[in-house]
Amino acid sequence: MIKENLLEVRKRMEEACLRCGRKPEEVTLIAVSKTKPISMMEEVYAEGCLDFGENKVQEIVRKLPDMPQNIRWHMIGHLQRNKVKMIADKVTLIHSVDSIRLAEQIEEEAAKLGRTVDILLEVNVAKEESKYGFLPEELETGVREISRFPHIAIKGLMTIAPFVENPENNRKYFKKLRQLSVDMQQKTIDNVSMSVLSMGMTGDYEVAIEEGATLIRVGTGIFGARL
Ligand SMILES: *Cc1c(COP(=O)(O)O)cnc(C)c1O
Repeated sequence: MIKENLLEVRKRMEEACLRCGRKPEEVTLIAVSKTKPISMMEEVYAEGCLDFGENKVQEIVRKLPDMPQNIRWHMIGHLQRNKVKMIADKVTLIHSVDSIRLAEQIEEEAAKLGRTVDILLEVNVAKEESKYGFLPEELETGVREISRFPHIAIKGLMTIAPFVENPENNRKYFKKLRQLSVDMQQKTIDNVSMSVLSMGMTGDYEVAIEEGATLIRVGTGIFGARL
């Protein structure tokens, strides 16, 4: 079942790329495995997926020893400052940097480890009360401040679009994130790249790809519903 789901997602990703003239290699699928057991993750890994997304620090720490070493772990959930040290040396990319204070903590831990940590800035493009992230008008200040941290590399932007029945309703938010990324790129700030756009989940990843996503985060579409 999981294998079929994964193949279906990959097929739809490819079709979305073809519709908008993008190369399928430009888009990477992150399998969002939160709450799902190692056995299911192994099925996905066996099909050649090396990118896994989790939203809880403890879950990454718990699962990591039981999964192959070459997996790329993506932290996609709200990250508390006191937990940064638990994952700073374990994750490939932190998608959910939503404040300068959090970045400061990441800088501190990364410096201790003598490494650079790759991050995305989370943007609350739809300005939802319930969501974390920089508001669009706060983004430039955030990028400029965080770009000064020598052990952090800003790679791009991430958003969690609203929950909607019709994915077309989120197109405007994906367009907006893409536009913000172009705007930030044009400011040519040292130590800042805007090559990554993490947007699109099970319900709307095809629209996100059409609007320029380079990373999509799919959980339910691969693993089935979460309880
Ligand atoms: C859970 C989660 C996803 C995946 O959601 P699905 O709708 O199951 O695909 C993607 N991104 C984030 C940040 C999440 O927390």
